[in-house]
Amino acid sequence: MAAEAADKPDAQRERMIADVEQMARDTAQATGRPVLDARVLAALRKVERHRYMPSAHAARAYENHAQPISHGQTISQPFVVALMTDLLNLKPDDRVLEVGTGSGYQAAVLAELVRAVYTIEIVEPLGRTAARALLAAGYWNVHPRIGDGYAGWPEQAPFDAIMVTAAAPYLPQPLVEQLKPGGRLVIPLGERGGVQVLTLVEKDARGRVSQRRVIDVRFVPLTRKTAH
Ligand code: SAH
Repeated sequence: MAAEAADKPDAQRERMIADVEQMARDTAQATGRPVLDARVLAALRKVERHRYMPSAHAARAYENHAQPISHGQTISQPFVVALMTDLLNLKPDDRVLEVGTGSGYQAAVLAELVRAVYTIEIVEPLGRTAARALLAAGYWNVHPRIGDGYAGWPEQAPFDAIMVTAAAPYLPQPLVEQLKPGGRLVIPLGERGGVQVLTLVEKDARGRVSQRRVIDVRFVPLTRKTAH
């Protein structure tokens, strides 16, 4: 009976949360966040990560690892999703931009926490698959778009928070411009193939921008041309 219950997605997600919490404690020296926001953890507990993965990998959906999706891309590690979400200090009324929809999983986690999520994916088939998964899961507050997220989404700007889930060699200026004063942006910064540093960018009430290095990470690169 116990083993049967443990195999249910709910129980698997509970174990995933425990792993995420442990990793938060283990990395606290670098991140400064030994305990992640309870609302963020509640969102991870709720989102069915297996819905955003190819069926061949879905059995491993609740392991605290990145996994392949398709087109050489990955669904991020649950801990990294939790940490990046936590760093944004989101409020329920926020409107958030995500660059790099990928599987749609991170967008779903954001959609649990805020009013509206605008998410851009450059690889069209990935963006379409993610959009379908998000609709099937009932996330009407996610607005997906195919395109180059480097330029942000000017028609919907400014945003309370911005999350970039692909690594860039430098901070895209259009995204900084589309961030509200008082807003936060997280992005992995680093050269292709090298070490990347998850970076927290803050714009203060007077529009001054500061950056803080959080922790080393590994993301697929932010590309600039529409790939098919
Ligand atoms: N947030 C995703 C992780 C995706 S991996 C998730 O939860 O699954 C990064 C994604 O960024 C890839 O799908 C990649 O195709 C996409 N990407 C890379 N460069 C991009 C760009 N310039 N604009 C939008 N998406 C981009």
